[in-house]
Amino acid sequence: MPQKYYLWTVGCQMNRADSEKLAAGFTRLGLKATDRPERADIVVVNTCSVRQHAEDRAYSKLGRIRDLKRERPDLKVAVMGCMVGLKTDDLQRRFPQVDVFARPQQFAPIMELIEGTAEELGGEFWPSTYAIPEGPTAYVPVVHGCNKFCTYCIVPYRRGREKSRPMDEVVREVAYLASQGVREVTLLGQTVEAFGHDLPDQPDLGDLMRELSATERLQRVRFLTSYPRDMTARILEAVAELPKVMECFSLPVQAGSDRVLESMRRGYTRDEYVAKVREVRVLMPHAGVTTDVIVGYPGETDDDFAQTLDLLEELRFDKVHVAAYSPRPGTIAWRTMPDDVPASLKAERLHRVEEVEGRISLELNERYVGTRQPVLIEGDRSGQAFGRTTTGKLVHLPEGMPARAGSVIEVEIDHAGPFSLRGTPVGALALV
Ligand code: SF4
Repeated sequence: MPQKYYLWTVGCQMNRADSEKLAAGFTRLGLKATDRPERADIVVVNTCSVRQHAEDRAYSKLGRIRDLKRERPDLKVAVMGCMVGLKTDDLQRRFPQVDVFARPQQFAPIMELIEGTAEELGGEFWPSTYAIPEGPTAYVPVVHGCNKFCTYCIVPYRRGREKSRPMDEVVREVAYLASQGVREVTLLGQTVEAFGHDLPDQPDLGDLMRELSATERLQRVRFLTSYPRDMTARILEAVAELPKVMECFSLPVQAGSDRVLESMRRGYTRDEYVAKVREVRVLMPHAGVTTDVIVGYPGETDDDFAQTLDLLEELRFDKVHVAAYSPRPGTIAWRTMPDDVPASLKAERLHRVEEVEGRISLELNERYVGTRQPVLIEGDRSGQAFGRTTTGKLVHLPEGMPARAGSVIEVEIDHAGPFSLRGTPVGALALV
């Protein structure tokens, strides 16, 4: 029976949630985590395919593990996540030392690497194991997969179609997490508002938020990632109405030009997207709104890109996550569209977005200076406590000032930067 596991993860919050669940399974079997693969008996590499950079990191990690396995043939090696599937043949050829390949959420083949697992667990290992929380915040996947098939995206091919977890199962997991000290959960889905469409009574995300709001000792509920067309008025009303649900939206736009949006098959026009953000802000004037943008998508002209910049100026997001387009094998864009924007131009456009984003983020953050914000303390780094406002802004307390992780304290903001705020506690709002 292995004694130690090494788990390496790259990619989105969904991947991290999968890893946390797998870690909980290992812990339940008595294995201990190690941050050194050479000390492990079982190594799991949890991969991501969304960008080439993430794949390159996984290849590099696997190269090092391959050398380790040569020295120690008894080492068990598993590869899981979004690179498994279309790329399995290639991975098997390059890394024959891997013992098992598992798609996202396919935990069983990995657990089977551990001798005796099935008998010890009486066959009921998943999904009854919940991730073991490491602090006051936790991710909770509520809907897996995606049905949207945006042309550039590999997710529907790797994570399958939308499949919601039963509502009572999510409620039980969140109650468990709260009993273990978690004070904030982030509900996860590739398109989180798709939750419930496929369940028998078709509850929606708002219904789930209502149920979770009754969880004892839970202070905050967040949710991501949003898809504009699935974000109904009913869900928005629930966010506005429920005090525990944070008014904080991650709403990817991807491009500001209708021509590019149509080519991406995003399913909305620029005007429709703008109207959705305005709907959010009319209902919740102080809501935090972040977005994602892709630059250098096939055929993106200077004019298309100018429209993206114009949209960012118009909507003034709290944060813009920007990425240069990279073709993902297997996607519609990869099959049908030449990657025709030169790398240097992609880099230049990326930089332009970062400039606009940095300026606007700073301007928005400066509005917090002099205000008092309820901040949920998440932990500390090198003696400096940090937490987040209801709108998702990162706040640092003065160095050396103690603050208990999991408490909600009122903080007077005295400094703003483009990425975070700084402030001094003026009182405890909740110690739970
Ligand atoms: S909505 Fe589009 S970009 Fe998002 S996961 Fe689904 S296919 Fe990918």
